[in-house]
Amino acid sequence: MKLGKKFLSELKERLEKEKKELEEELASFAKKDPELEGNYKTIFPDYGKTIGSQEENMDEVEEYVSKLPVEKTLEAKLQKVNEALARLKGKGFGTCENCKKAITKERLEVSPTAKICTECKGFV
Ligand SMILES: [Zn+2]
Repeated sequence: MKLGKKFLSELKERLEKEKKELEEELASFAKKDPELEGNYKTIFPDYGKTIGSQEENMDEVEEYVSKLPVEKTLEAKLQKVNEALARLKGKGFGTCENCKKAITKERLEVSPTAKICTECKGFV
């Protein structure tokens, strides 16, 4: 089954929108890593230059630690989106990485970043 141009460009638009949203969300608390594309670093909160009380320092650490998993999740999502966009530009989009068969349009519609087909997903 061949995927239509219109369908693909719709998916591309959706992915690009998602990419922008993820990047904005990440930028709200993390800094782009200039060394590594698509990598972000959570900014260590700084509530001022004065030496805070121990309690304040604990809050800073807690805030930082609580954001790390969020950063990882968003980063992983962003990476998937970037990969899907790269596949869209090149070749291989909509082809299952596992069995090399076409991924159904329905599946791509629900999850444009899918790399494997529904059948393989059941076994992986
Ligand atoms: Zn497959």
